[in-house]
Amino acid sequence: MEFERTRLVAEMIAPDTGELVCTEVDVRVDPLTGHTSRILPNRGLMPPNDFDLEALARENQERCPFCPDRIERLTPKLPPAIHPHGRIVHGEAVLFPNLHAYSSHSCVSVYSPQLHYLPLGRITERLMADNLSTQVEYANAVMAADPDSRWSSINANHMLPSGSSLFHPHLQGIVDPSPTTLQRQVANVPAARFDDYLDTERRAGVRFLGNTGRVQWLVSFAPIAPAELRAFVPGIASPAELPELVAELAHGLTNALGAYADMGFESFNLAMYGAPPGTVGYPLNLRIACRSNLKPLYRSDSTFLERLHWEAAIDLAPEDVAERLRGRFRT
Ligand SMILES: [Zn+2]
Repeated sequence: MEFERTRLVAEMIAPDTGELVCTEVDVRVDPLTGHTSRILPNRGLMPPNDFDLEALARENQERCPFCPDRIERLTPKLPPAIHPHGRIVHGEAVLFPNLHAYSSHSCVSVYSPQLHYLPLGRITERLMADNLSTQVEYANAVMAADPDSRWSSINANHMLPSGSSLFHPHLQGIVDPSPTTLQRQVANVPAARFDDYLDTERRAGVRFLGNTGRVQWLVSFAPIAPAELRAFVPGIASPAELPELVAELAHGLTNALGAYADMGFESFNLAMYGAPPGTVGYPLNLRIACRSNLKPLYRSDSTFLERLHWEAAIDLAPEDVAERLRGRFRT
């Protein structure tokens, strides 16, 4: 597979020296969906975190509905047809319906009611696996109770810049009768194209991070968000089919989050785009990416390009991101 890219050159006269200056913009085409993305020279658009998140956590904790004293009283329960106990619990993780639903079945799962402040470097494989397990059980319970809802996804808005309205770290699940736009796009990619993409990246080695057993991890050639990683799980189409792979996925995700923490990032988005269970030839697609760090008057990484052109402009080269992450996936 040939990856498509075009180099654009912007010319201007420098304000200080009066000399001609050229800037290169690398426009890349995603090999799976065809969307385009702009890789810019590093301009420091994503500075590392220097904000006291722990102090902010202390400040907003007393009103938090996901903390131990309030979670029982302030969060809703699942209808009995979906779960007899109203909440799904694995280890410390607790799942309940999203009070502000985004779909016919919309849930929130906290890593632990005790962990109101959970920087990325402290998300352990155990915490991640237990939280994913609540989501997998939820997807199965919903599909059993409502067989028309076959499209499930596991997602995260982590920390306010990512879109999270609550500070307390959590995952979110959606199960619906129809897919989201990107869920539909990736589900429509022919099976052979996924194989070709993964073979090409594995051979090139530049962005390929590793195979943790059944899950293959790489850095996106044409990312839609900063420091974007993708993972593919051949033979699994839906989060509902994940039970035996939860530990392996949790391992890869904590590798990624640990690397993000090392790079100075504390906010991310995650999506695992499920297709209906049993969809032949569709490998479960996962995408995870960083968002701007929180601080007063911070710059959002989502500009007119991302929101209105659906075209990312990113100053972190995917190949440099891969360099930072590769060691964690090869141990
Ligand atoms: Zn809390």
